[in-house]
Amino acid sequence: MNQTKIHLCLAHMSESGMEQKYVQEAFDTNWVVPLGPNVTAFEHDLEDWLENNGAHAKYVTALSSGTAAIHLALLACGVERGDEVICQSFTFCASANPIVYIGANPIFVDSEVESWNMDPSLLREAIEERIRQTGKKPKAIVAVHLYGMPAKMDAIVEVAKEYQIPLVEDAAEALGSSYQGKPCGAWGDFGVYSFNGNKMITTSGGGAVVCPNEEMKQKTLYWATQARESVPYYQHNQIGYNYRLSNICAGIGRGQMTVLPDHIEHHRRIADLYKQAFINIEGIEYHDNPSDAYESNFWLSTILLKKDLTIKGMEQRQKEGEPNCNVEALRRWLEQCNVESRTLWKPMHLQPVFAEAKHYVNGVSDELFSRGLCLPSGPWVTEEDVHMIVKSIVDSIK
Ligand SMILES: *Cc1c(COP(=O)(O)O)cnc(C)c1O
Repeated sequence: MNQTKIHLCLAHMSESGMEQKYVQEAFDTNWVVPLGPNVTAFEHDLEDWLENNGAHAKYVTALSSGTAAIHLALLACGVERGDEVICQSFTFCASANPIVYIGANPIFVDSEVESWNMDPSLLREAIEERIRQTGKKPKAIVAVHLYGMPAKMDAIVEVAKEYQIPLVEDAAEALGSSYQGKPCGAWGDFGVYSFNGNKMITTSGGGAVVCPNEEMKQKTLYWATQARESVPYYQHNQIGYNYRLSNICAGIGRGQMTVLPDHIEHHRRIADLYKQAFINIEGIEYHDNPSDAYESNFWLSTILLKKDLTIKGMEQRQKEGEPNCNVEALRRWLEQCNVESRTLWKPMHLQPVFAEAKHYVNGVSDELFSRGLCLPSGPWVTEEDVHMIVKSIVDSIK
């Protein structure tokens, strides 16, 4: 058996120790505050990175989390109390929670089967029905690139443009992914990245909002720093937030930017190894790029178990009334092998906290939740690990 646990995705610092160098600089110059040279430089690094990857004239504000970035993006879209905001149902709760922070109402839209992200035709139906029922358009749309797999952004942008509804792109998991050659995070009116410990790169905790112009960058910066007016005394005309990234965390981020290409390459290589291995295994489907238009960063490699498959221990899970007894049995099996895995996100329209929210569903995310599993994919996962994990999965099949 494997001695040390294999995790889904853990933080991984550069071998050259760049993160520590920038953090040390912050200490040496006493910039131990939520602003400073590292923050500004990290924002420029992200802007340059976007520019070099084909997204022009983007303006980035570094924040304390991806969740904060979604919150400020929604404010920048003009979302207010009582408004409706359309959000992908198949996602992590952080895509939807900021809608509620504002006092707005999330309207959940299901996924299509190819990318597992927001279904553009269901999005259109939802908008049409909301207009019919309320006489008003939803105020914003939050689309997500789950597990790094790009959503069908051309079609989603087209619907958003047609109805003139601003689009927030939750690319928290998708730094390094692109669709039709354009980076995820650069398609929407606003893009969101997360630098939490388990994402593509980390600042220990942090996020960024990608803005379409300098004015919006200044606006998000203003809200992130308690909405302080630029006068010599403390004057506040609006409610603000304490959302700025610290200069220490930004130092880690600057170091991490030097290894971002390596991280992306590693995740893709691990994905390739799983893909090769699962081709020959009956009953397991690897979630691959649906076509050449998609270039996932494969933040997490994900699989679906075919319906007729039986995993050892499944009957016990069934008895205990688990909604996803096969995947839960496999998750437990892998845990016994010292391998961390995780069931796919439970859709927001199935969450008790959102029981009252309107939703437009087609059964896709329900099915993904009941059949899917995420596998270790991070920078510490080796080729041998992948072979061991695949073998454990094969052994788990009855
Ligand atoms: C991680 C994540 C977020 C939130 O980012 P934090 O930095 O953890 O606040 C938002 N959306 C998705 C899809 C995520 O995976």
